[in-house]
Formats: sequence, C-alpha cells, structure tokens
Amino acid sequence: MRYVSTRAVDGGGARSFSEVLLDGLAPDGGLYIPESYPQVDAARLDRWRDLLATQGYAHLAAAVLELFAAEYGGHSLIQMAEAAYTAAKFGTPEIVPVERVAGTNLWLAQLANGPTAAFKDMAMQLLGQLFEVELERRDTWLTVLGATSGDTGSSAEVALTGRSRIRVAMLTPRGRMTPFQQAQMYSIDDPAIANIAIDGVFDDCQDLVKAVNLDAGFKARWHIGAVNSINWARVIAQVIYYFAAYFRTGADCVSFAVPTGNFGNILAGHVAREMGLPIDRLILATNENNVLHEFFSTGIYRPRGAAQTYETSSPSMDISKASNFERFVADLVGRDGARVAALFGVALPREGFFSLADTPEFASLRDRFGFVSGTSTHADRIATIRQTWETAGILVDPHTADAVHVAYALGAAGRGGPVIVTETALPIKFAETITEAVGFRPPIPARFAALMDAPRLVTDLPNDAQHLKAWLESWLSG
Ligand SMILES: *Cc1c(COP(=O)(O)O)cnc(C)c1O
Repeated sequence: MRYVSTRAVDGGGARSFSEVLLDGLAPDGGLYIPESYPQVDAARLDRWRDLLATQGYAHLAAAVLELFAAEYGGHSLIQMAEAAYTAAKFGTPEIVPVERVAGTNLWLAQLANGPTAAFKDMAMQLLGQLFEVELERRDTWLTVLGATSGDTGSSAEVALTGRSRIRVAMLTPRGRMTPFQQAQMYSIDDPAIANIAIDGVFDDCQDLVKAVNLDAGFKARWHIGAVNSINWARVIAQVIYYFAAYFRTGADCVSFAVPTGNFGNILAGHVAREMGLPIDRLILATNENNVLHEFFSTGIYRPRGAAQTYETSSPSMDISKASNFERFVADLVGRDGARVAALFGVALPREGFFSLADTPEFASLRDRFGFVSGTSTHADRIATIRQTWETAGILVDPHTADAVHVAYALGAAGRGGPVIVTETALPIKFAETITEAVGFRPPIPARFAALMDAPRLVTDLPNDAQHLKAWLESWLSG
C-alpha cells in the first residue's frame, strides 16, 4: 500500500506507511491518503466476523492494519495490537462493547472505555506502539509538542508515557479544561511528560505550537513532532472499530451517527464504507459550531475564525476548521488532485470559502457517499441526556448526545436498520453538564477514583513563544 498527497496530480511522491507515520502534511500542503482503498468482500467480512468472535478485538485490528501497513508484518502487527488493546486498559475484554438503547433501534458503540475515557484512546494506544517500533527501527527519538483543549492531550500522554525514545510537552489553556480533564493530565508523574498551563485560551496554545515549529533550527535540534488528528495511522486505527461495531450488532447493514469536530472519527467511517463495509448512512452531527453541517446541507465550506467559534457544552467539537476534511473531499472529487489543490490551496486562503453547490459532487454526498448531517443546541443535548437516562437508563456524555439527537432529528432512527452511535466520551469527563441534565453527578468509575486527589504536576507559563522555547530547551537538555 502506497500513500499519496490529496493534492498530487500524477500519483507522484508516493510514500510507504512507515514514511507517513511520523509525518504531518505532504510537501505540497496536502494530506496523505492511500492510493486506493483495499476492498473487503463478503468472504473476508465473514472471516473477520469469526476472527473477532474467536480471537478478539486485537486480532481483528491486526487484520485491518495489515491491509494498510503490511510492511510491519502480520506477527508484529498482532503484537502491537495486543499491547494496545488490553482488557486491563479498556476495562472489558471486548474493548468496544456495543449495547442497544432499550426500546429503540439505536446502539451505542462504547469507544470511551480506554484509559482516559475518550475515544481518542482507540487511536492513541495503537499509535504509541507504532511510534515506538518505528523510532526503534530508525534509531532516533521524538519530542511530541502539542496543544489540547482536553481529550487529545491526556490520551496522547497516557499512550506515550514510559517510552524511552519519546518525550511529550503538552500546552493547555490554564483553568479552561473540566476538573476531571485537569486531574487526568496533571496527575501524570513521568519526567518525560511535561504539562504546561498557558495563560490564554486553546487557540493561543495552538499558535505557540505553530511558532515553535516555525523555528526550523529549534525544531530540528529537538526532534519536534506531533500526534495531531491528521495523522493517517490514527484514521486507520479508527477504521477498525467501525468493523467491530458492525459485527457486534449482527445486522446485515447499519448506519452510524458520529459527533464531529476535526472530521477524524467520521472519516474513518467513510473509509470503512469505501472498503466495502455495508454502511447505509453516515450521520454527521455537529454542535453550534456547525461548519460541517453547513457544507453537507448547502455545499459551501466556510471555516470560521476563533472569534466565531463558540464555547459549548460539547467542547471537543468546538472546532471551525476540520483538519481531516480535505481527505474526504479528495474522494468526493474523484481524486482530482489539481481540483483539491484549487479548493484548499487557492480558494480557501484567498476567499475564505469554497462552494460545491449545484455540482454533481454535491448530489453525490448523500446518494453515493451516504452522508447526511444535522446540528444540536445546548438545550437539545440536555434534553437528549435526560431522555436517554429516563427511558433507557443509559447516561451519555454531551458529545454522544449530539449524535443521538441528530440521529433522531433526521428520522434515521425510524429507517429500520440499526443506527450505531459512536460514544466518544464517558459522562464523568463532563460532569457539570450531566448534572444539569439529570440532577445528579455521574458516578466516578472505580479506576478513576484516586485521580481527583492526586498531586498536580504542571508548569505555568505566560503566552509567549520565547519563554516557551527557553523552558523547553532547559527541560529537554536536563
Ligand atoms: C475529539 C472528540 C470528538 C470529535 O472527534 P473528531 O475526530 O475530531 O471529529 C468528539 N467527541 C469527543 C469526546 C472528542 O474527544
């Protein structure tokens, strides 16, 4: 399997999986995608269903990975998957249990049982293994520098802790994460992990990461890298659970409802569908930050700036520029790299938007690619959390509630086939919103009980790139 840029015109510049693993953007500014998607026919689906039932999630994971990353060899992929997806880390041997919401045709794929209680663990745990193997092979080391508004940072730190070739510095907006998220990150006690609280908002943290990366000398000297959501290996890791969730419903064809921020989770659903997984609808759910709903309902993609990005009660979706979206658009325009470059490399920077309204591609969003979309308000999420609790005895977090709400609002739940909602976080991460909805605080799972009282390890820094670089330098050389 070779990977090409979304903007490549002649299929040139193809790279291997291990080459794109540690990379961000392609040199032409595009994102890496496989030259073509491996096809999974009915016979292979049957074999994978058996594999999941008899050998478990890690073996299914290795089978899917082998189609994209065969260069590592089946045996080593199984070892990596078994290290990533353990019952101890995910609290259950199924890794991704799927449960029906009583009295409905909605099912919840529980993706948030991992060590940091968010679906990011599904990808990060595997990424940790892949990074370690690849850094070993290249005999080098890496400093992961990132910014987080909550879920990604803790997931990356937990996945990368204790790996001799990796250090992690994570910038967080001081005082702006939920108490649980702060406890989760700041309690990590590892000299190779640095939590930095910046006097600013999430966008300030991101700008600081950019500023450090613009200093080419600093970047090279300290091997600065990232684990951001455009990492292709994260997308593949997510493809696996679409197959697993489908098998676990026992149905012939399913739909998925997915809460969306960077278009990462649902991109994996699109890839699974392109591989041949029988998916009817991909239901995209946004909150008040509805840039993607706007595109899927009008054909106009208009990312917004920080000033037009609202703070909502599903904060991990407070994103107005979907970093993985270009990958989907490449498929939408039939892999016409020149057209992708014209849309994302020219029209967007120049005009601030592009439009596919009144094009055949716009019509194909639903008919050919299965996409439908919707949006929710705070009141919708509160009502959904309360209703799911009162009628089915299931507590969902506000992000999952976005998707449940949109699935119902679109009538998808009445189409007959199972609609699988991807549960992206546990309620405990967003306790204040849950309390508002149901009148009590969500119970703290036993494995997180000690967390809230653990000592906090965090360095306060001003919102200033020079300060940050000086601090990193002394930390990294110590
Ligand atoms: C990251 C995240 C999302 C959004 O996922 P994308 O892959 O960015 O679309 C949704 N819910 C939760 C809880 C998250 O952490």
